[in-house]
Amino acid sequence: MPHYELRCRECGKSWGNQPRSICDDCFSPLEISYDYDALRGQVTRERIAQCAANIWRYSDLLPLPENFEPSLPVGFTPLLHAPQLAKQLGVKKLYLKNDAVCLPTLSFKDRVVAVALAQARSFGFEVVSCSSTGNLANAVAAQAARNGFKAWIFIPADLEPAKILGTQVFGAKLVRIAGSYDQVNRLCSQIADEHRWGFVNVNLRPYYAEGSKTVGFEIAEQLGWRLPDNIVVPMAGGSLITKIKKAFDELITLGLVEPKTVRFFGAQATGCSPISTAVKTGETDIQPQKPSTIARSLAIGNPADGHYAIKTITKSGGWAEDVSDSQVVEGIQLLAETEGVFTETAGGVTVSCARKLCLQDRILPDETTVLCITGNGLKTTDALAGRYELEEPIPPKIAEFDKYLDKALEVPEPAVA
Ligand SMILES: *Cc1c(COP(=O)(O)O)cnc(C)c1O
Ligand SMILES: [Zn+2]
Repeated sequence: MPHYELRCRECGKSWGNQPRSICDDCFSPLEISYDYDALRGQVTRERIAQCAANIWRYSDLLPLPENFEPSLPVGFTPLLHAPQLAKQLGVKKLYLKNDAVCLPTLSFKDRVVAVALAQARSFGFEVVSCSSTGNLANAVAAQAARNGFKAWIFIPADLEPAKILGTQVFGAKLVRIAGSYDQVNRLCSQIADEHRWGFVNVNLRPYYAEGSKTVGFEIAEQLGWRLPDNIVVPMAGGSLITKIKKAFDELITLGLVEPKTVRFFGAQATGCSPISTAVKTGETDIQPQKPSTIARSLAIGNPADGHYAIKTITKSGGWAEDVSDSQVVEGIQLLAETEGVFTETAGGVTVSCARKLCLQDRILPDETTVLCITGNGLKTTDALAGRYELEEPIPPKIAEFDKYLDKALEVPEPAVA
């Protein structure tokens, strides 16, 4: 008997372990629940420290099949101290959880896919699938190749070229849909009813979602088994923010960290801000939106976990913010220029929302704050198109360079924003 099973988030009914994400009795989402009494004493800091530096060091708190053999060292990305960015935001203790360098496909989605595919194998699926705003497509395609699954990937037709190519290169079947992500996702639910395919974010969603907890486990461990005061998390479907919360709660339950209320701050682009809008207006449920933003990885107008994301934020004493597309680009540039980290649009959202929250005094200078940087800038270079001028090349002659230098020194260097 595994030490975990599916349970309805609302009526509490148990559903064992199977590819299913909704309770048939009350139509609420299912979530993995664990036997924490069995885990207490078994999961210790020392035991975790003996394991390799990847997400599998937290296997006791993940829904993995018995005798599961990981095929990839996913996760355990750096937690970087960010003093220069901190100065710009007017705070003192700022950290970046840098999933721009998560392996194998440079976003935090590698974590969720690793856990979902572990169960896809044990449920007997040969085809794995997903609806995606880009990063999930990359992660499913790569890990399907690595683990010998066929992959069918469904995306809105207008995704960034790098995210499309970064799916096709792994040999996945890429189905472009002339519609929004929300329409793609609805279609995938219908396909999942008709075909025995493992959709990581549909019928395998409860297992997938648990992979996001590893971001929270790593942050706590990398802070020396302490929780931060604040965490800023970009939101699409709203799953990541709720699972970081679940991770912190589990560490408290198991006695691995001291109890503490961490304030959760959600970040969205104004052009797709159903969750931050609900938080600001005091609603507990989502009003779906039609997305229009360059932050395509976050462009989900009807977020599946929106209700729970709102609850996580408001109950923690946190807040949610959203920023314009030009602020998204400024956020990307600010992070790159201050800390040498090149993030995608979602990271620009996080950085600019964090700046706003600092200006509003919702995040205070003496507190410890972690920003979740969830994806890599090389995947969304189109967001920076036209931002940098490309000068005419000069001949390879020292005299020419001297001339160039004289001219260059006349113009003042652009200062950090
Ligand atoms: C998917 C994604 C998110 C948000 O994840 P949810 O769990 O759907 O809220 C954040 N950042 C990036 C880069 C993503 O790809
Ligand atoms: Zn139920």
